[in-house]
Amino acid sequence: MTVCAISTPLAEGGISVIRISGDASLTIAQKIFTPLTCENVSQMKGYTCAYGRITDPRTGRTVDDGVLTVFRAPHSYTGEDVCEISCHGGVFVTKKVLRLCLENGASLADRGEFTKRAFLNGKLSLTQAEAVMDTISAQGEFALASANLTRGGLLFQRIASVRDALVGELASLAAWVDYPDDDIPAVTDEGLSAALDSAGNALERLLSDHDSGMILKRGIDTAIVGRPNVGKSTLMNMLLGYERSIVTDIAGTTRDVIEESAVIGDYTLLLSDTAGIRTASDKVEAIGVELAKKRIERAVLILAVFDQSEKLSEEDEQLLEMLRSSGKRVIIILNKADLDENLLPENAFDGFESLISVSARSEDCRDKLVQELEKLFPTGTFDPDSTIFANERQIFCARRAYEHILAANEALSSGETLDAVTVLISAAADELLELTGEKATEAVVDEVFSRFCVGK
Ligand code: GDP
Repeated sequence: MTVCAISTPLAEGGISVIRISGDASLTIAQKIFTPLTCENVSQMKGYTCAYGRITDPRTGRTVDDGVLTVFRAPHSYTGEDVCEISCHGGVFVTKKVLRLCLENGASLADRGEFTKRAFLNGKLSLTQAEAVMDTISAQGEFALASANLTRGGLLFQRIASVRDALVGELASLAAWVDYPDDDIPAVTDEGLSAALDSAGNALERLLSDHDSGMILKRGIDTAIVGRPNVGKSTLMNMLLGYERSIVTDIAGTTRDVIEESAVIGDYTLLLSDTAGIRTASDKVEAIGVELAKKRIERAVLILAVFDQSEKLSEEDEQLLEMLRSSGKRVIIILNKADLDENLLPENAFDGFESLISVSARSEDCRDKLVQELEKLFPTGTFDPDSTIFANERQIFCARRAYEHILAANEALSSGETLDAVTVLISAAADELLELTGEKATEAVVDEVFSRFCVGK
């Protein structure tokens, strides 16, 4: 089946691209595109383009002029014959060209269908395909570099080398058990255990690289909390570098949770300025407080702000209580240091590892914060060239494979039969095959590509 879709965003712009993929691509393009720079479409070689007129064959009317690019199977993104028509970037004209493709033999592509075809035709592994969406959604340098590495096949290679080691052990076990009379080297418990250790370590390394990579790549989900008027909005504005929240002297003005990301040193903080943690006195404020509480639950890091020029209030104490029981990473920020008045009791913050005294109005607050972040989230051990998983599906498979490997090693050392050990090793190998898509079920593949955008 030949499919088509608009591959550019459907909004007014300079150019739109309509992509067609499948056996009939060139025939369809031939019907609606009259090249002016070469004889006709069917004679165009792969990797060539032609300028020409897009025409409706029913009426003979010109719809637009544009450029047709031809890719011949298997040397295309999908591995099939592909034609891409670039036309003027108006919404109506783009839809009209798409309609021409549909009227002349193409079907509408599903979400991610082009990449799915690339996967099914062996052009990409599933991990590489998933990285395509990561490249599209990358918001920063590190996210892009990491997506490019995965798209280039680095994650696939690392997973494949663990899988190959496991499959190698399975083959030796099978040969040794099935052909006892042949001259096949014995599989020793020590040898097998060492191989399992090394496979387990490789996966453990991937999973831990992933955790630190996520901090660099996506940022740290951060909640700024504190009762009204302690300086949360001021702090947030300083971190973001511009006036975002409305800063006022009236307590309780920050009512909505505002989400923004601030780059501080090597870290990206995904910030939310929440309503003050306080007993809600009206409905609007109540929504804000509820959201703030939820935000603490969701956050990885909490910046808890206190006003050191005022005494510790009951609300402050309630907040401290909430923070102590949250088990989260907390930086206590004693704000308004410029007022030179510290009315907070010294022992109020006992038990919190990270505490800074700052003025949210001054820039050196940033430097102090970076120092605390480095303590709480050390990234020094993280190699920025290493790869990270694209999504929960991949992490899930890697974790399960890791657990099966640990279980296999345990079974081996507790003297269980080699059959039992073999079952666990194959379960681990199967998880890795599902991760890379080599043995993924149709349902898994469909689920992966349903998260793509149309036209990709
Ligand atoms: P929020 O309700 O916690 O978001 O507090 P705001 O950021 O709106 O700040 C409340 C008041 O405290 C405003 O008048 C700010 O200008 C003031 N403020 C914030 N940070 C500082 C600081 O470091 N020093 C001084 N002197 N005033 C501050």
